[in-house]
This record gives sequence, C-alpha cells and structure tokens, in this order.
Amino acid sequence: MDFELSETQQLIRQTARDFATAELEPGAGERERKGEFPGALLRKMAELGLMGVNVPERFGGVEAGVVAYALAMMEIARACASTAVTMAVTNMVAEIICKFGDDSQRQAHVPKLTSGAYPAGAFALTEPGSGSDAAALRTTARRDGGGWVLNGTKQFITSGAHAGVNVVWARTGGPGPKGISTFLVTPDTPGLKIGPEEKKMGLRASNTVSLVFEDARLPASALLGEEGRGFPIAMTALDGGRIGVASQAIGIGTAALEAAVRYAKERCTFGKPIAEHQAIQWMLADSDTELDAARLLVLRAAWLKERGRPFTREASMGKLVSTESANRVCARAFQIHGGYGYVEDYPVERYLRDCRVTTIYEGTSEIQRMVLARMLLRD
Ligand SMILES: Cc1cc2nc3c(=O)[nH]c(=O)nc-3n(C[C@H](O)[C@H](O)[C@H](O)COP(=O)(O)OP(=O)(O)OC[C@H]3O[C@@H](n4cnc5c(N)ncnc54)[C@H](O)[C@@H]3O)c2cc1C
Repeated sequence: MDFELSETQQLIRQTARDFATAELEPGAGERERKGEFPGALLRKMAELGLMGVNVPERFGGVEAGVVAYALAMMEIARACASTAVTMAVTNMVAEIICKFGDDSQRQAHVPKLTSGAYPAGAFALTEPGSGSDAAALRTTARRDGGGWVLNGTKQFITSGAHAGVNVVWARTGGPGPKGISTFLVTPDTPGLKIGPEEKKMGLRASNTVSLVFEDARLPASALLGEEGRGFPIAMTALDGGRIGVASQAIGIGTAALEAAVRYAKERCTFGKPIAEHQAIQWMLADSDTELDAARLLVLRAAWLKERGRPFTREASMGKLVSTESANRVCARAFQIHGGYGYVEDYPVERYLRDCRVTTIYEGTSEIQRMVLARMLLRD
C-alpha cells in the first residue's frame, strides 16, 4: 500500500493551496457577509486548471485524476467553502458532459467550463417536492417538432444564476426512474426563468436559486445520453459528487481545527493557555483524528474512481464520515473559542455555518446510510 502522492497530485495540491492562501482566504469573510459571488476568482482558478482537474486535456482539463481533484477541493474549501462548492459543481458538470455527452456536446460546453468562459456549471436535479427521492421528480419534457418542451421547477440549484450550462433532469416517460432523461440547458433558453437567490445560513457567497421552466424550448441536440436513461446518469454523477462534498467538508474542518489550535495557544485562563487544559487538548486530538480518518476514506474512494473501479460504497462512507466529523470539528473549534466564537471577528462561526449543509446536499446522511445498508444487506 502506497500513501505517497504522485508529483502531479502534489503539484495540484500546492497550486490550490497557494492560490487559496493568497487570493481566496483574505476576502472570504467579507464575500460571505456581502453574499458576493466570486466570479473573478473562479476565472483565475480556471486558468490554473482547477475547473477541470479530472477532465481530459483535449477538452481543456488538466487530466490530473480524482485524487488530485479531492486534494484541490480540500485546499480551496479550507480557505473559502462558497468558492469550493461552486468549483465542485462546475467540475462535476464538466465530467458528466465528458462521460455521457456526444462529441459535439463535449466540444460545445466542456472547454468553456474548464477555461472559465462559463463562470460556472449547474446541476439541476432537486425540485420543490423531491430531494432525497429524486426519482419522484415532476418536471416534464415532451417532444415537440424536432425538439423538446420543458415544464417544471428545479429547487436549490447551486450557481443557477451564473451557469453557462445547466444539466437538467426531466420526465420524458412514465413514473419512476426509467421515465427520466437528462438535458443540457443554456441560460438563453426561451421559457427558462431564474428564481430569486436563496438567503442561506452559510455558503452565502455561493449562488443558490430555483430554475423555472415554462414551455421552455430546447433543440433535439439538448438530450444528454439516451432518452429514459437519465436516472443512472444522475446516480453516477452523485457518486463522484460525494467525493467533492466530502473533500469540501474536510477542508472546512481543517480550517476550523487550525483556528482552534491557534486560539488555544493564545487564550489564557487560570494562569495558563487553554491549550494546557486537558479538556481542550482532548477536543483537539479528537478533531485531528476524525479528520485524518475521513481524509483516508475519501482518498480511497477517489483512488477507486480514478482506476475505474466501483466506488459507490466508499464514496458514501467517505461522505457520511467526513461531513459528520467536520461538523463535530467545527462545533469543537467554536466551543474552544468561547464567546469569541460567536462573533464575526473570528472565522469559526462561518466555518460552522458553512459546514452544516454538507450533511444535507449530494445526499443527506440518512440517504448515505440507506445506500450503505442496502449494499450490505444485498451482498
Ligand atoms: C445550499 C444548497 C445547495 C444545493 N445545491 C443543489 C444543486 O446544485 N443541485 C441540486 O439538484 N440540488 C441541490 N441542493 C438540494 C439538496 O441536494 C437537497 O436539499 C437534499 O438532497 C435533500 O433533499 P430535500 O431538501 O428535499 O430533503 P428531503 O428529501 O425532503 O428530506 C428531509 C429529511 O428527511 C430525511 N429522509 C428523506 N428520505 C428518507 C428516508 N427514506 N429514510 C430516512 N430519512 C429520510 C432526509 O435525510 C432529511 O433529513 C442543494 C441544497 C442546498 C441547501
């Protein structure tokens, strides 16, 4: 077993770390307070290859693999979780189009995602009435002339107001997963309306909106993959997406632990730094251990995906453990800061708020447990 990173993986991690430290971290709190989408920063990240880490070079990616992607995501999230989720979805959209699109779809969209010509990509599966139960979605797509007409609403779509392309799931047949197809929808589509921005607990510098389709007209070429085969595309994308969200959570947790260590060494009570109280030391040790265990699980899932091996179970475990651990790590960092954790002068309140959603999106913790239990009982 080899735990060493390759030169490419080290290079990507260092590139992400340098950029995150110099450019993302300093303004992260301010962007969060203003709810400012990091458009210019995302373009710079695209120039560094961070919008197509696991995308083939011929489509403008850096083809560095899934482990490199996970490492980069951890570094970006450690500095700015809002930027990280935007990066995660854009990479995911580029990968979906590469894997399931035809050559003209790949050529039309992937280089624009990886180069930053599109500010972001969006993934539109969730609806007001269906999140965990994605196969219950109700948006319809019916054939009309040579194209398609979409009706329905997508909810909580990350980067939906900025995306150059949205991957949208809609019902083309009967009920259940077999009646679902996937479409590529550009923002100039007639009949597509973008809803108001959600006012969120955290990740406020990321954009979250609804997408409303009212007789929205798409050309025949908008269909991604085969008609009726959309649900497996969504499930495959979510498996990979879970590695991204898990890495995001680890990045936020790492930032929280670092802040806690710094503060514990500075703050004195009862005549000594609080870092010398055993209660604080144990919190720090638990956080370090939990984050490291999470990191190993996620990197294993990334390693399997990179080799084309099955990784659904490992990605679910990685997501479950990372996001729940990172939430505990953020809560401990907050506790270690005492009253100062509760005010904006210190970043831990932001880490805690940003981290909270990681056990929700890309499949809640309950859904991960369902996936895992189902596999365990079936096998
Ligand atoms: C900030 C943010 C960004 C998002 N970005 C995107 C995006 O870009 N694209 C996208 O498509 N979606 C996105 N989502 C949606 C997200 O994926 C869903 O919110 C999530 O999947 C949960 O769905 P739901 O909110 O409908 O909750 P529900 O599915 O209604 O679940 C409610 C609760 O019931 C539990 N539950 C549900 N079913 C079961 C079960 N069978 N057994 C046990 N418990 C169960 C859930 O775990 C949860 O605790 C985003 C959400 C947020 C908040």
